[in-house]
Amino acid sequence: MDCGGGLLLLLMRSIGKIETGQVLLVHTEEPSVPPDLQDWARLAGHEIVDSTAEHPQGPWRVSVRRGEAPSAQAPSAGASDDVFTRGPATPVGDRLWLYSNFHCNLACSYCCAESSPQASPRLLPLDVALAAADEFCALGGRELLVTGGEPFLHPQIHVMMTELARRLPVTLLTNAMTFHSGPRRTALQAMPRERVTLQISLDSAGPELHDHNRGLRSHAKTLAGIADARDLGFTVRIAATLHDHEADTAANLNALLDTLDIEPANRLIRPVARQGFAEHGQPVSIDTLQPELTVTADGIWWHPVAVTDPAMRLADHPLPLAPALATIRDTVAVQDAAHREGRRHVFRCV
Ligand code: SF4
Repeated sequence: MDCGGGLLLLLMRSIGKIETGQVLLVHTEEPSVPPDLQDWARLAGHEIVDSTAEHPQGPWRVSVRRGEAPSAQAPSAGASDDVFTRGPATPVGDRLWLYSNFHCNLACSYCCAESSPQASPRLLPLDVALAAADEFCALGGRELLVTGGEPFLHPQIHVMMTELARRLPVTLLTNAMTFHSGPRRTALQAMPRERVTLQISLDSAGPELHDHNRGLRSHAKTLAGIADARDLGFTVRIAATLHDHEADTAANLNALLDTLDIEPANRLIRPVARQGFAEHGQPVSIDTLQPELTVTADGIWWHPVAVTDPAMRLADHPLPLAPALATIRDTVAVQDAAHREGRRHVFRCV
């Protein structure tokens, strides 16, 4: 590993487990690591106490004494005049994302989670979801978001949503194609309106682009789902995902949303992230993604668009949250020290 390929998070996780004054030994065969560690240690408030090459071409052993991490700076406000939704950064620790499952009725060309009907469900157990929400509340969290895969394919989604909404406001991300009738409609009807927002994916005003990305006739079914959800009294937020070269379709989409009376505050246009199935799109890393704690059945991650990227993994288990949150805060403090401007574009998913 090197510092651009996941080592930074591993370092932050590891040094977070020792006390101030104790020493972490890093053993590496990668020549770029010893000089990078010098920069990291300076920015993170640690001290390199020894760096030894076992042979002239490595491997190397670097000893790092843990110091006091610098405190994170509040990000400054910023704005962009392109079509993609930007906004102030969500404070670290305000939001918790829960991946309820990874299978989906669709297989969108840009799916960052590599979801499809054939994907392993990787169901988030109900008790784990609720335990994560309880710990998150105790840590001062303010907002929950449930995503997938298609969350309505989780067999206990109605119970999960009802119980989560008792704790905090919840946004449920869905393609809105599975609850027109049957048990999933019953599940939707049972969810509390006042604490649940449905964020529905719709990429374009007409069917061409949406169906191209998400499957034949998916546009019409999604429009029907939006109508269903609103008829049932839910707040609906519309989220489009576009490549840069598709950005000029946003005007037509906004015109459609005007006719549907979707308020501007409930519209979101995101760039495709080059993750998962997406062969093109915006490259993402811990330097470009504002961290948002994300839990899956098998781990904790830096951000919800990065759950297929091993370099973005914070923990190998979904619980507890606190050490992963501490790793995020320590990493952000280092990034702030490195970026005096203090502001990166915020990649908004909600
Ligand atoms: S982008 Fe959403 S709707 Fe499309 S395959 Fe992925 S999870 Fe399913």
